[in-house]
Amino acid sequence: MPIYEYRCEECGERFEKLVRRAESDEPVRCPRCGAVETRKQFSVFAAVGLEHGASSGACCGSGGCG
Ligand SMILES: [Zn+2]
Repeated sequence: MPIYEYRCEECGERFEKLVRRAESDEPVRCPRCGAVETRKQFSVFAAVGLEHGASSGACCGSGGCG
């Protein structure tokens, strides 16, 4: 199930919400202040899986050539 990240326009609270369906017609309320002025951010799954410190054979990365 996809988890979407929302951000409250009122208080700036960021929270994740589990969405069963791809499209939800219900307004997402902020768990902090209860405002419905929320914006859907990118899915958290998009951020997961990024490799840190990929050490491939970069030529001019660390003064190899030059
Ligand atoms: Zn809020």
